[in-house]
Amino acid sequence: MELWFTEKDTVPGLALSVKVNKVLHREKTDFQDLAIVDTPIFGRMLFLDNIIMTNIKDEFVYHEMISHVALNTHPNPQKVLVIGGGDGGAIREIIKHPKVEKAVLVEIDRRVVETSKEYLPEIACGLDDPKVEVLYEDGIKYVNEHKNEFDVIIVDSTDPIGPAVGLFESNFYKSCYDSLKEDGIFVAQTESPYYNEELIPQIQKNLRALYPITKLYLAFIPTYPGGCWSFTMGCKKYDPETVDLSNWPGYPTRYYNPEIHKAAFVLPNFVRELIKE
Ligand code: SAM
Repeated sequence: MELWFTEKDTVPGLALSVKVNKVLHREKTDFQDLAIVDTPIFGRMLFLDNIIMTNIKDEFVYHEMISHVALNTHPNPQKVLVIGGGDGGAIREIIKHPKVEKAVLVEIDRRVVETSKEYLPEIACGLDDPKVEVLYEDGIKYVNEHKNEFDVIIVDSTDPIGPAVGLFESNFYKSCYDSLKEDGIFVAQTESPYYNEELIPQIQKNLRALYPITKLYLAFIPTYPGGCWSFTMGCKKYDPETVDLSNWPGYPTRYYNPEIHKAAFVLPNFVRELIKE
């Protein structure tokens, strides 16, 4: 008998199904339903509340693009905060950057980290690095309690559901702004421009109220609804589009490079329209 896993109605009326070889793990954590399945197309996949979070085949796109665009815009990204991201993919990328001295991961659900270490070691492999501190608490509370501390803050959140709702709200954005140093950079995954036509302009508005430079960029991720995914940056000082990348340290990446960094900010007209001031 064939087994299929279906993510459905994350976008109302839309479903994405993937054939499953085997369910490797399933549990109800204190925060969400967590599943790891093995699939013929994408290898092992992590689902939270029946929504695809990451998988072995295409995770590099998301994790490189949520990390390296900000890290290479900042001239000296020594101290980096990740909120969410318990699979460890963003952390694995961040510690590739030679200037990073410390990366703090604040994940609300300990079981996401523990299960990723067990079943997704290719993604979670950086979590035990000595530069990395992993804390299990609400990212909203954490940024409220840490001011003027980080060069880069990366919000690698689930969709705006459950504990992640507050990670898309203006109070949280303000706390992140205060948690950054005076030349800091904020970046968050901001969903699909095809299906989040209300959320994306709202995020832009909230970030524009704080940062002199707010920019949206895109990457192509087959397992997220629509395949075309957005990230939004708020920068206190450095512009990701005009930054000189000729001295890019050139550590190994599979998606990110200086040309992709610049090209990711070239937007189709319908996305320009979505974020126009
Ligand atoms: N790449 C994924 C995506 O966009 O589908 C997201 C990665 S997933 C590992 C995001 C993580 O954010 C989850 O593990 C979840 O537990 C965590 N999270 C949600 N709300 C949070 C909060 N308020 N504070 C810290 N972590 C949170």
